[in-house]
Amino acid sequence: MAVNVSTIQLGGCSGCHVSLLDVGKAIFAGGINVVHSYLLMDKVTDTIEAETDLLIIEGAILTNKDESLLRQMAPHVKKVLALGSCACFGGIACLGNLKSPFKGNKGNNLKEHGHKLHPLICSPKAFIDIDFFVPGCPPPADIIRDTILALIEGRPVPEIAHTVCDECVRERNYKAPSIPPGGKWKTLLEEAPDPKKCFLEQGYLCLGRQTIGGCNAGCIKANMSCEGCRGPIFLYRNFRKFSDKEKGEILKCLK
Ligand code: SF4
Ligand code: SF4
Ligand code: SF4
Repeated sequence: MAVNVSTIQLGGCSGCHVSLLDVGKAIFAGGINVVHSYLLMDKVTDTIEAETDLLIIEGAILTNKDESLLRQMAPHVKKVLALGSCACFGGIACLGNLKSPFKGNKGNNLKEHGHKLHPLICSPKAFIDIDFFVPGCPPPADIIRDTILALIEGRPVPEIAHTVCDECVRERNYKAPSIPPGGKWKTLLEEAPDPKKCFLEQGYLCLGRQTIGGCNAGCIKANMSCEGCRGPIFLYRNFRKFSDKEKGEILKCLK
């Protein structure tokens, strides 16, 4: 029997939906019946027209509209999957909470479009229980496929408990410095790194040791150091615990 799936985009860039589309017919040909998605359907609507077995959320809570959309959908969904780092733990969208030279203009662009910036930009888990987390910016299509197929077929969702370093094949002597030589990390623009050697051991910052694997060290293969887009490994091991704790803390901040 087909599973009714809805997708929504909150404060996101559509990159996670593009990755979802990359999954292709592995899921869209058979097991999934898309009932609500203004990015995947040829129909623009905010209303829910059918009960949803699985709600896939892209993006963080960025505006007041994001919160009300989520509250409107919550009673109609059975299970929720956070797709991408913005939905899992706030991701790049949360940089909007930081003080910046643009602070005076914070939210001006949103106001022009009739939206109000949320008092605290955060993961949707502040307002809805999330059952499955697929981090990444965006998440790799094969992980999305394996997770959704497992859900449809009633199997356990695959666990990824290793780091990007575990997937990296660069030469290393496991004596990488925690502090760079001279106190300053080199940048990729200054000098091209040796494509065969560990970035850290060459004096470039690389977050592979702390970051959840699964991306097959894609950036490293392209001679770019890991920026940690899949999130810290401790978070993955404790997603449920972290999620519950953060939910309470975020709601306290909003009162
Ligand atoms: S996780 Fe990355 S790709 Fe996905 S919505 Fe956020 S910024 Fe875009
Ligand atoms: S720190 Fe980066 S370059 Fe070095 S082994 Fe880990 S992922 Fe590879
Ligand atoms: S190598 Fe790091 S930054 Fe690149 S996709 Fe993997 S986790 Fe993300």
